[in-house]
Amino acid sequence: MAAGRRVRHRPRRRGAFRFRARDPQLPRRPAGPAGDPGDSGTARAEGRVRVLRPGPGPGLPQGQQHDDRSRVAAGRPRAGRREVTEVDGRPIVIVGAGHAGVQTAARLAELGRETVLIDQDEALPYERPPLSKDVLKGAVTTPNPLRKADFYAARGIARIGGKRVARVLRDSREIEFADGERLRYGKLILATGSTARTLPVPGSDLRGVRTLKTAADASALRGELAPGRRVVLVGAGYVGLEVAAAARSLGCAVTVIEAQDRVMSRVTSDVVSRFYEDLHRAEGTRFVFGEGVTAFEGAGAVEKVVTSSGEVHEADVVVAGIGVVPNQSLAEEAGLACADGVLVDRQCRTSDPDVYAVGDVVRQVCPEEGIDRRLESVQSAVAQGIAAADAIAGSDRVKAEVPWFWTVQHGVRLQTAGLREPGDEVLLRGTPGQGRFSVLYLRDGRLAAIDTVGSARDFAPARKLIASGALIDRGLAADPGVKLSQAQYLATV
Ligand SMILES: Cc1cc2nc3c(=O)[nH]c(=O)nc-3n(C[C@H](O)[C@H](O)[C@H](O)COP(=O)(O)OP(=O)(O)OC[C@H]3O[C@@H](n4cnc5c(N)ncnc54)[C@H](O)[C@@H]3O)c2cc1C
Repeated sequence: MAAGRRVRHRPRRRGAFRFRARDPQLPRRPAGPAGDPGDSGTARAEGRVRVLRPGPGPGLPQGQQHDDRSRVAAGRPRAGRREVTEVDGRPIVIVGAGHAGVQTAARLAELGRETVLIDQDEALPYERPPLSKDVLKGAVTTPNPLRKADFYAARGIARIGGKRVARVLRDSREIEFADGERLRYGKLILATGSTARTLPVPGSDLRGVRTLKTAADASALRGELAPGRRVVLVGAGYVGLEVAAAARSLGCAVTVIEAQDRVMSRVTSDVVSRFYEDLHRAEGTRFVFGEGVTAFEGAGAVEKVVTSSGEVHEADVVVAGIGVVPNQSLAEEAGLACADGVLVDRQCRTSDPDVYAVGDVVRQVCPEEGIDRRLESVQSAVAQGIAAADAIAGSDRVKAEVPWFWTVQHGVRLQTAGLREPGDEVLLRGTPGQGRFSVLYLRDGRLAAIDTVGSARDFAPARKLIASGALIDRGLAADPGVKLSQAQYLATV
């Protein structure tokens, strides 16, 4: 990869992008229609970004675009010096300031690259996992920020909040905001996340039928959870069960309706499902398995949930926890390859070499490694942010990561590493009745995944065993008296 052009950072240089760490500025524009966060008139930017006014952009003529990878400098900057990578004098722009977008910006900052980080939400970027846990229970009132407020400007990240990106114009390499303003990009990273899936049944627009994705959703839901309120959760996945636990802890009467015959069936084995079902039942949650929801009924607000058997469940609040859909419309409308997620390679490149995508919005496809998956987790968002940033900085390095995830329900933590498949051999380690056990998933005699319940002791060694692909001695692995790190199969010669 050829070395690119490095420019020492100086405020007030020529070009489309200027960043001045101590110069908060607002790309002000007139207020637009209500309900459109991009037109709220409250956009904030930390740093200085020149935004083009509506009108045809002066982009390069089609067919004369550069392969900017040759212009991107590789490697770390010298200590104490901030260097700016310019791609034809245009900034690196990130759309979406969730876990993935913020990590991409942070990693690029480590590599000496300044970025523009845009989000339709005006708030300081925050962590989503606590929304269905401590925020809902009221243990914390405001979501934890992903980074402190002064992090961004101090690292050359020009944060623009409260502006929605409406279009990507790949020919001119610009993004267009909902209000028609435009911003050029040298490299673009789409980190637009996902949206909670809603139920396409009659009554789904009734007041009280909710989803949980944002801090505003959590705060509104929290306001509805009070002793005696009847809460129906549709879907017994991670989020639904975490909400069920929070609602019970607040004294609500909780019913979970799940189309499959057990909880978390998509992500874990029978033994773990039964353990968590028992835990929730012991805490007073009622389950309805094997039924779908066919309608919500009520006069203005939800009062009843009707299931496929015709059974009716009274409800004051309903939360649909039935998964998410990737926010891929920007990519799709720009003609990028998408298939239930923006398609990216190992380094998060889309079908356009100037556009990357990271986090919940992507489907990563690497045929040579047998990878074709869409993961919705903090770990995956962070790993992809790092991979994309490294690629933009000119490095081919991709750190092999074992995917992992966690959930906490009624105080019992489940940690998962690796990706289980339905045909995997299941090996129990420990006793579920004691509240601390692990389930190992073996494929071809090797550890493919693990669930640890109530104890994280096996988690770190399991991640190493999964990464190494070592053969496992089943007898040793099933014995909780033996350290998992010593459960490798050692052939006798
Ligand atoms: C309630 C809840 C609990 C969770 N619990 C866990 C957990 O315990 N463990 C775990 O690993 N994961 C958990 N997750 C999943 C995890 O939070 C997500 O996988 C992660 O947030 C994905 O990060 P992201 O940056 O891809 O997307 P997001 O965090 O969704 O961020 C995307 C951002 O893009 C912005 N955006 C979208 N479109 C535009 C646009 N056109 N213009 C401007 N901005 C735009 C959005 O406003 C948003 O801020 C949970 C998620 C939720 C909702």
